[in-house]
Amino acid sequence: MKLSIIITVIISAVILQIIGLSLFIFGFFPVKPALSGVSGPESFYYDDGGGSDSVANHTRASMPPHLLKSLYQELSGIHPSFERLILMVIDGLPAEFVLGKDGQPPREDFREAMPYTQALLSNGMATGYHAKAAPPTVTMPRLKAMVSGAIGGFLDVAFNFHTQAMLDDNLLGQFFRIGWKMVMLGDETWLKLFPGLFTRHDGVSSFYVKDTVQVDQNVSRHLENELNRDDWNLLILHYLGLDHVGHIGGRNSILMAPKLKEMDEVVKMIHLSTIQTRDNDQGKTLLVVVSDHGMTENGNHGGSSYEETDSLALFVGLKNDLSDYAASSCDSIYQVDIAPTLALLFGVPIPKNNVGVLISEAFDLLTDDKQLRVLELNSWQLLRLIQAQLPGLSCRNLPSHDGFTDGLASTTVECSGSMEKMLCCLYMNAINLHSSWKSKSLSRSKSRDDYSCTVAAYHQFLKTAKTCWLTCFWDCGNGHIISNIIRPHDLHEYRGSTWREPTPL
Ligand SMILES: [Zn+2]
Repeated sequence: MKLSIIITVIISAVILQIIGLSLFIFGFFPVKPALSGVSGPESFYYDDGGGSDSVANHTRASMPPHLLKSLYQELSGIHPSFERLILMVIDGLPAEFVLGKDGQPPREDFREAMPYTQALLSNGMATGYHAKAAPPTVTMPRLKAMVSGAIGGFLDVAFNFHTQAMLDDNLLGQFFRIGWKMVMLGDETWLKLFPGLFTRHDGVSSFYVKDTVQVDQNVSRHLENELNRDDWNLLILHYLGLDHVGHIGGRNSILMAPKLKEMDEVVKMIHLSTIQTRDNDQGKTLLVVVSDHGMTENGNHGGSSYEETDSLALFVGLKNDLSDYAASSCDSIYQVDIAPTLALLFGVPIPKNNVGVLISEAFDLLTDDKQLRVLELNSWQLLRLIQAQLPGLSCRNLPSHDGFTDGLASTTVECSGSMEKMLCCLYMNAINLHSSWKSKSLSRSKSRDDYSCTVAAYHQFLKTAKTCWLTCFWDCGNGHIISNIIRPHDLHEYRGSTWREPTPL
């Protein structure tokens, strides 16, 4: 009798625990369903009704890579700015070490440890950003964010040590479909995320955190050979040593400056052998140096502090007219902004679940009409993503603001109201200004003001859509806010302009 009571109590307790745990997991870690499938030719048209997806997917599946590549180029109307990409990941490097903080240069020993990179920045040959990473600040979800533009669920922390192949739409898949050959050297997380995608690879394990030397030599030993080859389009170098230095001795470890020096040598070698000497360059090469996350004073990471989320995005090889140190290193972006920027620079569709916004400076060299086109493509993609969450959202049904010819004032309206109305209104503002700009066929009548207003309208839509997606949709769907992805101060910026308090959907 007693035994059966004990058993009943134990069983009830277990059931209660399971219920409690489920409530916690689904409440605290809301899993946002990602859109399945991949962006294709349809992403270069605006199709409000959907439905052409299956046709487009069918066309794409039967198309050889080189034809798909030219199709994308034809549809986008933009010649890709570069042919080859070197993505150098320095694991755990806080952007502050390279770019400084709050307008101040980095601390002296770090600055002196990276003379080449610092010279590239001060000569305007490199553009660096503090790229805010979303928590959890651990490697696998952050790599996913960079290549897909999407912010994964918090459950990714649990999967960080048991990485599975990435199925959601991402840049590597997009590159693969247009026939890119890819090489990966470094952290084997890439091999787990993208099995079978690399022509050559040498993976290293992040398991031996005590090793700060061999783990990086295993990457660099192939570098000279790879830089001399012309059979790849994407070369990924993922250096784990700096993260390991942090785990052993924190930010102030005596090994930190020598490790930065080693990374600087790699940047120098790549720059001298590819970008600097365009004659020898096997195709126009862009070097992007990023970190997946930062680290605390003690060298830990995973959380949402500034030190951990302050990741780096450094573009070397973009030709733009930035010439002073301040202008080339003070901007902040989000880590997810890397994905749409690279997609648009290399002429592939922006991945389906991207919430990032292109980095404008990367497109400085494009003509005005092309710069507006990349903003338009990014806007269409974000609108499509939001429409998938709000099936009722159809901006086409809104009364369009006519009167293009009456000047700019009549083409934009003050936006307010519900989230749907707000987003459609901002979107229509941008689209109308763009059409108005295009309709002025003579370049003489296209004023800089018209152009700047159109760019500003696109950015207003893109930023609002991104913020709204990150806050409202998580909020409304689950009754919870992931407050550390977008912090309240980020919202103030929008509330100050046209942003109104989001009304519950
Ligand atoms: Zn990492």
